[in-house]
Amino acid sequence: MTQRTFSIIKPDATKRNLQGAILKMIQDAGLRIVAMKMIRMTKEQAEGFYAVHSDKPFFGSLTDFMCSGPVVVSVLEGENAVSSYRQAMGATNPANADEGTIRKSFALDIEKNSVHGSDAPETAAVEIAYFFNQLEIVG
Ligand code: ATP
Ligand code: MG
Repeated sequence: MTQRTFSIIKPDATKRNLQGAILKMIQDAGLRIVAMKMIRMTKEQAEGFYAVHSDKPFFGSLTDFMCSGPVVVSVLEGENAVSSYRQAMGATNPANADEGTIRKSFALDIEKNSVHGSDAPETAAVEIAYFFNQLEIVG
């Protein structure tokens, strides 16, 4: 089933100039980029995006981190895109991530873990609409 998911290449990765290397791993996983831009989130945008985590102890630090530098937001399309991108990303904590995953290859720690990917088709739809309008999705 062709599906869309939402991706962020996080500030720890753009800081180390890893956008190209990560996009290559995304494309090698069979996902197609149908929308993409580089932005710098405001604190308010980061808080809105991660609102589901607002009661977690790491919320303040996470939202500071997410607006600490540029990010690459994109919409990815492919067979079972949500789960196939989650698989390509690896576990949230890079210490638990499988060999060959993006987080195993690049993540620094459980917070500075290089990429975000939606966790379900419903959240993907909400996250895509948070950053892109219909005219910006061109796949
Ligand atoms: P993401 O939503 O970014 O794709 P995820 O779904 O693997 O990651 P979540 O549980 O949704 O993980 O957490 C969102 C983000 O919050 C993580 O990617 C990470 O950057 C940060 N985070 C999660 N757990 C912790 C923690 N214990 N300490 C610090 N930061 C954390
Ligand atoms: Mg998540």
